[in-house]
Amino acid sequence: MSQLSTGTTNLTMTIGGAAVSGGSSFDVINPADQSVVGSAPECTRAELDTAVAAARAAAPAWAAVPFEQRQKLLLQMADVVDAHLVELGRLVTAEQGKALAVATAEVAGLSYWLRETAALTLPEAVNEDSAERLSVTRRVPLGVVAAITPWNYPIGQLSFKLGPALLAGNTVVVKPSTFTPLSTLRLGELLRDVLPAGVVNVVSGSGDLGSWLSGHPGIDKVSFTGSTQTGRAVMAGAAPTLTRVTLELGGNDPAIVLPDVDVPSMAEQLFWAAFSNTGQICLAAKRVYIHADIYEELTRALAAYAATVRIGDPMEEGTQLGPISNRRQYETVLDLIEDCRRQGYTFLTGGTPEPGPGFFVPVTLVDNPPEESRIVREEQFGPVLPLLRFDDVDDVVTRANAGEYALGASVWSADPDAALAVARRLDAGTVWVNEIMHLTPQVAFGGRKQSGIGVESGHDGLIEFTEEQTITVRHHTAPAA
Ligand code: NDP
Repeated sequence: MSQLSTGTTNLTMTIGGAAVSGGSSFDVINPADQSVVGSAPECTRAELDTAVAAARAAAPAWAAVPFEQRQKLLLQMADVVDAHLVELGRLVTAEQGKALAVATAEVAGLSYWLRETAALTLPEAVNEDSAERLSVTRRVPLGVVAAITPWNYPIGQLSFKLGPALLAGNTVVVKPSTFTPLSTLRLGELLRDVLPAGVVNVVSGSGDLGSWLSGHPGIDKVSFTGSTQTGRAVMAGAAPTLTRVTLELGGNDPAIVLPDVDVPSMAEQLFWAAFSNTGQICLAAKRVYIHADIYEELTRALAAYAATVRIGDPMEEGTQLGPISNRRQYETVLDLIEDCRRQGYTFLTGGTPEPGPGFFVPVTLVDNPPEESRIVREEQFGPVLPLLRFDDVDDVVTRANAGEYALGASVWSADPDAALAVARRLDAGTVWVNEIMHLTPQVAFGGRKQSGIGVESGHDGLIEFTEEQTITVRHHTAPAA
């Protein structure tokens, strides 16, 4: 496997604008071959306290920077990211395992999100402007935001948090996943030259750092992306201090395929809907309901398409899918596959783990398992997909809406109106027709039910990094009647 050339072993945390190495460090593993990519500082409790204090100290001055100036600084941040696309992309691939082109696009997504976020505004609303009184409602920053990210898109997930939190006038303490801290640490280093000290702090750690941070009394808001289980812990930890939370959590997104689709092109689209980033996307199709009229044809076409996809070393040009990102997730996915095998379900392709040092799992299609099976009910977050047969639209809507998650959903048909009629009946934060996972910096997304609280992106995502404040000015000094 190809290795990174330089610069991965001495990455530092960013605390109060300074480099902090930490007393000790932990290894970051390349999931493609289990080699050590580099090491990351182990943030102590005292260092975290310093980071939060630095963010608090920087907050008033940052909130006082004119909005237009903060917009300009976001653009400068985007320039810095663009100037280091290749370096950051290689780091993401090495620590996360996605194909290099995809990782580089992920980093480019951060600069795109920064630029587009910079164009958002926070207008004041005039409630009353009369001879007697002026009443204005405006949005004010919350203070210090903890941005906690998962390992599937270490830079991508941060792009939904960093620009909006800063533009709204907050300072930030970022904590990446233990599995993928390196690209975020490097980003923190790069941003030191752009932003005032303390405005963005980046810490890394492998133990209790996440809970220390989300429960820290110096934090005003936790913007968290990760599993539902951890999201519940974050919310509980935030309760004593009434810390605000936005939680982007797990999903088990249904895709519903109506019988009138063009099967060959549908097979390719469905494949990428489910298996992009080796299935490790919160908004990926995680259970696919296919109308009985085309079930056999489409599932065969899907298996045939899967055979054409190149899985391997993500650093190598031409690789389309890499390994699972870490041992913990690898074992979760293998356990689900093993459960399918034990229950006697049929694999249309895959099902047998690949030998070798990397966390590679072949694309695995499970033929019509029962609705109550684990592979249908649980979030697999990996390259194993249940294909489910349906005859009746009412029945498939009920099945799609069952379960604790409600993040995304998709409906596929040659007749957009027919698809839209089904889409309107689905219980999910975002429902796509004839596409999937299309997110833009202008449109908010978020989960319902156990998939989360609040939204990210767009104007509503920006609003979540603020609080409402109404200022009322009475023009007369005489007491009101
Ligand atoms: P985890 O919940 O395990 O971890 C997410 C982050 O939270 C990590 O940085 C982790 O740190 C940190 N953390 C762990 N414990 C706590 C705690 N008690 N308090 C605060 N932070 C904590 O999720 P994964 O990283 O495994 O990510 C996969 C999950 O994320 C999937 O369920 C997926 O669906 C979901 N996800 C949701 C998305 C959405 O937008 N809705 C997008 C992408 C993923 P550490 O690594 O040190 O444990």
